Amino acid sequence: MRQVAFYGKGGIGKSTTQQNTAAALASMGNKLMVVGCDPKADCTRLLLGGTRQPSVLDTLRDIGPESVQLDTVLVKGYGGVKCVESGGPEPGVGCGGRGVITAIQTLETLGAYKANLDYVFYDVLGDVVCGGFAMPIREGYAQEIYIVCSGEYMALFAANNISKGIKKFAERGYARLGGLICNSRMVENEREMVEEFAKRINTKMIHFVPRSKDVQRAEINRKTVIDFDPELPQANEYRELARKINANDDFTIPTPIGQDELEDLMRDYGIVD
Ligand code: ADP
Ligand code: MG
Repeated sequence: MRQVAFYGKGGIGKSTTQQNTAAALASMGNKLMVVGCDPKADCTRLLLGGTRQPSVLDTLRDIGPESVQLDTVLVKGYGGVKCVESGGPEPGVGCGGRGVITAIQTLETLGAYKANLDYVFYDVLGDVVCGGFAMPIREGYAQEIYIVCSGEYMALFAANNISKGIKKFAERGYARLGGLICNSRMVENEREMVEEFAKRINTKMIHFVPRSKDVQRAEINRKTVIDFDPELPQANEYRELARKINANDDFTIPTPIGQDELEDLMRDYGIVD
């Protein structure tokens, strides 16, 4: 069983990329569980056809820990992918990452990890790797991490920060970086720049996912692209990413760079935003 975490700046396309990759891997015969680690609880929506399942935190609040069964919080979606949302506290109340810790502990107690699984995906919010959001890598669950980014400054800034967190946890545990997934924002020289940034932080760009209107088309139909129309070129991109992740055996401890070096790199590649 490979446990894989997807990190990246909010809004960068983690959940879209993660769910399409999960759907592609499922269509290739893999068994998966996806654990949404975002208080927004929107990490499995496309796999579930838009239905919202109760999050672990909401369920615990509503019916109490004694009454929770695995199938109260774990719902099967496209391709049999098992979907869980950790959820979060009400806005302004408590730590957002608390849900992640509770969700993983609950899944452990209910035996979710004992199932026959090829992959567990963690879809983790955040520009930073702290508190509960570090749980999947801090406690040795996810040993393989992909950072979703683009060629935009804030996305690379977040990716660099996340790599600092991974480095810290890698020194005492098993967390390793599997690569950067560039989810294109059509920035100038984006592919070359993200490849160079990846090299500087001791990793690789595992795939360049083009920006495509078909992603939104599928989304308004509450589906992954893989499910909506597997013949679309964008579906091929996600299958290619899934194949690369499946074949990946190159995991590193990242070497984050300084802010000046990041700014210089962006200037060298002609970015002025
Ligand atoms: P995150 O999980 O990182 O917060 P989402 O996956 O929810 O981000 O994506 C944010 C928005 O970006 C979504 O509305 C999604 O449709 C859009 N999006 C993501 N990837 C692409 C892409 N490759 N092409 C076009 N739109 C995309
Ligand atoms: Mg998300």
